[in-house]
Amino acid sequence: MNGAAVVVVICASLSVVAAAPQTTAPDARADPALIADLVAANRILAQENIFDGFGHVSARDGRNPNRYYLARSLAPGLVAAGDILEFDLDSNAVNAKGIAVYSERFIHGEIYKARPDVKAIVHNHSPALIPFSVSSVPLRPVSHTAGFIGDGVPVFDIRTSAGVTDMLVSNPDRARALATVLGMRAAVLMRGHGVTIVGSSIPIAVGRSIYLERNATLQTQAIALGGDITYLDPAEARQIVAGGENGGYLRAWDLWKLKAMATTK
Ligand code: MN
Repeated sequence: MNGAAVVVVICASLSVVAAAPQTTAPDARADPALIADLVAANRILAQENIFDGFGHVSARDGRNPNRYYLARSLAPGLVAAGDILEFDLDSNAVNAKGIAVYSERFIHGEIYKARPDVKAIVHNHSPALIPFSVSSVPLRPVSHTAGFIGDGVPVFDIRTSAGVTDMLVSNPDRARALATVLGMRAAVLMRGHGVTIVGSSIPIAVGRSIYLERNATLQTQAIALGGDITYLDPAEARQIVAGGENGGYLRAWDLWKLKAMATTK
């Protein structure tokens, strides 16, 4: 009993010590525009119902590819610039001792290690995708806005590498296994859990997250109609991506950002 009480006191003092950095910029070297876009990405994905209280989005540091930015453990719709922390690629928070961080942050660090082309990563539990993570029916592109799906997305089953777990990708081994199943794709479904989506910019990772969820809804509706379905041809999908993928989602990004930042503070 005495031991437990001592632990509580220590944790409480750490949280007091840790409170100060959250009221200031995360790092003097951080690019303010990148941090602003990362805050917007959190708010947008919450507003578009891709995030609920859970989910997270990160961005690689444009000046140091061995670092990335991610919010402290907080509902994404509440994230502000002062909540953004810097991490190394082993997913240790830099200069943020005592601040609670997401248990699944390793997803970000291990994918950044495996994929130098990736500059932003979203992990979420958006609901229309979950059936495709547990069904033998594969997620396939039915809408041109989801051409990045290509000929399909892989499904990560955490049992394959880690056996029976709490299903959270909460250590480096589990995250490396996820990155391996992702391979060079845009997204990986996670059985009974959610999805991880990558992009070469924050707007692309956010746009893909929104349109992957929409595609899942549309595909489910098309299946419910009962007829034969004509999916995007893989060659069409490749051409969409090669053509810049909906302009990098930038036209939509401007609107999403304006709406999300106007209705939240
Ligand atoms: Mn999760």
